[in-house]
Amino acid sequence: MTDIRTAGYDEWLDSIDTGEGYYLACPNGHGSLPPRAVCPHCGSAELEEETLPDAGSVEAHTIVHVPTPRFDGEAPYVTAVADFGDVRLTGVVRGLAPADVEDGLAVVPTVVDREDGEGRLLVLEAR
Ligand SMILES: [Zn+2]
Repeated sequence: MTDIRTAGYDEWLDSIDTGEGYYLACPNGHGSLPPRAVCPHCGSAELEEETLPDAGSVEAHTIVHVPTPRFDGEAPYVTAVADFGDVRLTGVVRGLAPADVEDGLAVVPTVVDREDGEGRLLVLEAR
């Protein structure tokens, strides 16, 4: 899991943490998250930072009953993919009981410190 702990991703988490979230947009309207050198959809190297919408909506979700060791003690929890316009974010849903999470739920991205002290976690907070 060291591949996501790059400076680019950490800086991106900082941007979410301070309420100044962004994503990378290419001239063809594709969105992606850092670290990226080129657009993962079309290969364009002309990536610009665009402001991330304040809220997104859950597009797909899964209730996890048997967690990976890193999430031991947190199950059951919900992981979701949320639609933020040109870009999608994947995170753990908080603020609602797992059974109450539905596709279409409005969520706000936040960053929390992991309970095991092993870095930070993107959370999709139900609103
Ligand atoms: Zn593109």
